[in-house]
Amino acid sequence: MLIEQPPALLRALYPDAIWRMDPSKKEIYLTFDDGPIPRVTPWVLDTLESYGIRATFFMVADNARRHPRELAMVRERGHLLGNHTFHHVRGLQMGIRPYAEDVRLADSLLHTPLFRPPHGFMSPAQYAYVRRHFHIVMWDLVTRDYSRRLDGPAVLRKVKHYARNGSIVTFHDSLKSEEKLRYALPRAIEWLASEGYAFRTFDALVSSPPPSMAEGRRGQSLVTAAAR
Ligand SMILES: [Zn+2]
Repeated sequence: MLIEQPPALLRALYPDAIWRMDPSKKEIYLTFDDGPIPRVTPWVLDTLESYGIRATFFMVADNARRHPRELAMVRERGHLLGNHTFHHVRGLQMGIRPYAEDVRLADSLLHTPLFRPPHGFMSPAQYAYVRRHFHIVMWDLVTRDYSRRLDGPAVLRKVKHYARNGSIVTFHDSLKSEEKLRYALPRAIEWLASEGYAFRTFDALVSSPPPSMAEGRRGQSLVTAAAR
C-alpha cells in the first residue's frame, strides 16, 4: 500500500471489514503484521510491556510455526493474535480454493477469529469466504515502517499526522521494519499517551465470534466451505 489512509473506494470493496473503531473515543489500536520472528518480536513485546500496553499481532502462520518460542511469548503476555494467512499469500494472484486452504492452515495453528489479508487485497470470492469465518480487521493508518524510503523519524511523523480517535495503526514486527520501529514505536506510544489516547485491543470482537465459530465446528465448516 502506498497510502497511509485507505481511500473510500478500497473501504467500499470490503464493506464488512473493520477499518476504524469508535470515532467518538480517544482510543488507539496498535497492530503488528508479519511476525513473529526472533529479536524483533521480543523487543516489541518488551517495549509494549514497559508501557503496560496490549496489542494485536497479525501473524504469518509459517513464521509462527518456525518460531514457536516467539509465538508463545505473544500469547503468554496477553496480546491478541490475528490470522494473516500461512504464507502471506497474494490474494489476487490465486484462486479461492488455495487461498481458503492457506487461511485454514493458518487457523489450525493460530486459532483466532481475527483476520487481515496480506497486502490489503482479496478477490470478491476470497472476501466472501473470509467474512463468513472471521472478523476482518484492516487499518486506519499504515505507517509504512517497512519502506526503505522512510526512516524512523518519518514513521513517527506519520503517526503524529494521521492518528485519530479509533485509529487502527499498523506496524510490522519484521526485519525490514526493525530499525525504524526501534526509533518510532516508543516515541509514538509516548506521544499518543501524551495526547490522551488509551490503547485498546479487539477483545469485544474475539468474544463475539462469527456464526460458523459459534457452531463449535469451525475447522470442519472451513474445510467444507473451501471445497465448495
Ligand atoms: Zn503482511
